[in-house]
Amino acid sequence: ENGSGRNVLKPMDSEQLREHGHRMVDFIADYYKTIEDFPVLSQVQPGYLHKLLPDSAPDHPETLDQVLDDVRAKIFPGVTHWQSPSFFAYYPANSSVAGFLGEMLSAGLNIIGFSWIASPAATELEMIVLDWLAKLLNLPEQFLSKGNGGGVIQGTASEAILVVLIAARDKVLRSVGKDALEKLVVYSSDQTHSALQKACQIAGIYPANCRVLETDASTNYALRPDLFEEAVSKDLEAGLIPFFLCANVGTTSSTAVDPLAALGKIANSNEIWFHVDAAYAGSACICPEYRQYIDGVETAASFSMNAHKWLLTNFDCSLLWVKDQDSLTEALSTNPEFLKNKASQANLVVDYKDWQIPLGRRFRSLKLWMVLRLYGTENLKSYIRNHIKLAKDFEQLVSQDPNFEIVTPRIFSLVCFRLVPTNNDEKKCNEQNRKLLDAVNSSGKLFISHTALSGKIVLRCAIGAPLTEEKHVKEAWKVIQDEASFVLLK
Ligand code: PLP
Repeated sequence: ENGSGRNVLKPMDSEQLREHGHRMVDFIADYYKTIEDFPVLSQVQPGYLHKLLPDSAPDHPETLDQVLDDVRAKIFPGVTHWQSPSFFAYYPANSSVAGFLGEMLSAGLNIIGFSWIASPAATELEMIVLDWLAKLLNLPEQFLSKGNGGGVIQGTASEAILVVLIAARDKVLRSVGKDALEKLVVYSSDQTHSALQKACQIAGIYPANCRVLETDASTNYALRPDLFEEAVSKDLEAGLIPFFLCANVGTTSSTAVDPLAALGKIANSNEIWFHVDAAYAGSACICPEYRQYIDGVETAASFSMNAHKWLLTNFDCSLLWVKDQDSLTEALSTNPEFLKNKASQANLVVDYKDWQIPLGRRFRSLKLWMVLRLYGTENLKSYIRNHIKLAKDFEQLVSQDPNFEIVTPRIFSLVCFRLVPTNNDEKKCNEQNRKLLDAVNSSGKLFISHTALSGKIVLRCAIGAPLTEEKHVKEAWKVIQDEASFVLLK
């Protein structure tokens, strides 16, 4: 019903929010309490949910109880439990009470902070919190908001890469002319995340101009500066325009760390925009003893890390700093009449809509602010150190078993390992490692993932879920060893 005002939906009634909100928090708290009872990796088949849910939306309201019953019975089987203490796949995606509360508050306020005027606190808190983080990481002053630099929260590292690539592209095209697009060349190692390739596709970079420089075990899969320099020289000789380098601190496959200072020097002397992607490992660099891995970041034009991976801030919260905010805004700003306002017109404020792809933006800084305030930086450092210690323990266990080997040296909290080949049969060894991966993951007891390095199938155990303790790591290793004994028998 109805046009007359009776029985009109009241979708934001505070008392209902209070009651349902409490119940939802209880539901989620119970979930966390029992999270170890679920298979870590969902075991459903494609299309499973179609069979369980109706074909169309209900005409009339259902109760919260009915919905929560369905969540338990129909949704949970199709959930992979990223917050499980036995989740060791990919990279972690941390949640925390503080991050969760920040998300809740952000959902509660539900502002869309595209311009300063659209919610001044959203812009200002983001600038302040990104300055805090920059100081915690000991980033050079040029990345702070007081000059022409500053930080911004993007949804993902992929968006961070895309916006800086576009900023760099437009900066160079402004000086050499729009027609030169086909001459622009991008450099990265073959370990760089596919997000760069996607960004190049979106930004119109010619595929033939994407230099994917080979790495191997001799540098532990880090990019060699001499290869980069050689590629740049060749391209210059061919009349092309080198304009963008993406380096990694903590590659997705194996946490390789590119030598930033040496790469940056070459990039800078050739006027190449130098971006550093530290999506996962950036969090570790808040600890003074791990800060060395971003030494050389002072030569970069931009730096990004995901607080939503390993810094207890619920997804999504990808941090990006640039030294030259004008390059970003010149590439990404628009100024339609309907958004004009005095503060923006007078150039008194940052309008983050001009630092990102979409217009709308969430109040993400709240959750990062809450994480920093409710935990404090010392606790965050201990949190990281504990995971690294657990990874060391796991590495130790693996290296004591003659059936296994560590494939690349562990740097942070990722251990890359595999069953060793027998009789140098690499093909069979790859098959066995794939079988082991499937067996381990279909046990439901833990979830690990894999990658390939120099043609070798490698198993990845990434430690970093907030609930993971020593016993989970030990149990995981036991399951892997048990499953390995079956695989090796066949
Ligand atoms: N860069 C690196 C090094 C990563 O490890 C990842 C994801 O794991 C990404 C980029 C992509 O991250 P996002 O999902 O935030 O785009």
